[in-house]
Amino acid sequence: MPYKIESAPNGAKFDSKALFKLSYGLFVLTARDGKKDNGCIINTATQLTSSPCRIAITVNKQNYTHDMIAKTDAFNLSVLSEEAPFKVFEHFGFQSGKNVDKFAGCETENRTANGILYVPKFTNAVISCAVVATVDCGTHTMFIADVCDTVILSDAPSMTYQYYFDNVKPKPAAKADAPKKGYVCKICGYVYEGEELPEDFVCPICKHGAEDFEPIK
Ligand code: FE
Repeated sequence: MPYKIESAPNGAKFDSKALFKLSYGLFVLTARDGKKDNGCIINTATQLTSSPCRIAITVNKQNYTHDMIAKTDAFNLSVLSEEAPFKVFEHFGFQSGKNVDKFAGCETENRTANGILYVPKFTNAVISCAVVATVDCGTHTMFIADVCDTVILSDAPSMTYQYYFDNVKPKPAAKADAPKKGYVCKICGYVYEGEELPEDFVCPICKHGAEDFEPIK
């Protein structure tokens, strides 16, 4: 019996929130260029094929890790588990490797065979990849890559974007001195003050776009 759609979306208003219904994981993406190590948070990793074992990631061009992967064609994905606290997202997501060494002070170096660091804690697997193709997606680059190595680190469930929003990201506190007009980044809490948020606005803290901002109520 064919599946019947009860109400066709034809003519319905475009609602970008429909995209929130897609499910995503969360990952620390790491790369190495010479002696420089860096990593950032991404939510865009998808397996493309099993044979060859191939995945795709998309990375914002403003991320330092983006340039390192474009140059070296290699990266690791550390798959965050539900055990990951907010500080992991702050550390890898809300500051730039252009300004800080995110791996400074690490007592032990955890590297895979490709020489790239991975995150051994609050993760459940590491996937090492070699880039085979890139696609320019405007604000982002898609890196299509062969999986070279994999390691399972724990049995903890993978962190999803929804789990992060529901259980990890701190709820914004109401501030008496909050601006009356503006937009707040739903990812990191950065506040943009102004009547209108430019469509091409990118959060200076976490690099998410205008679609991840909501008006201050
Ligand atoms: Fe942000």
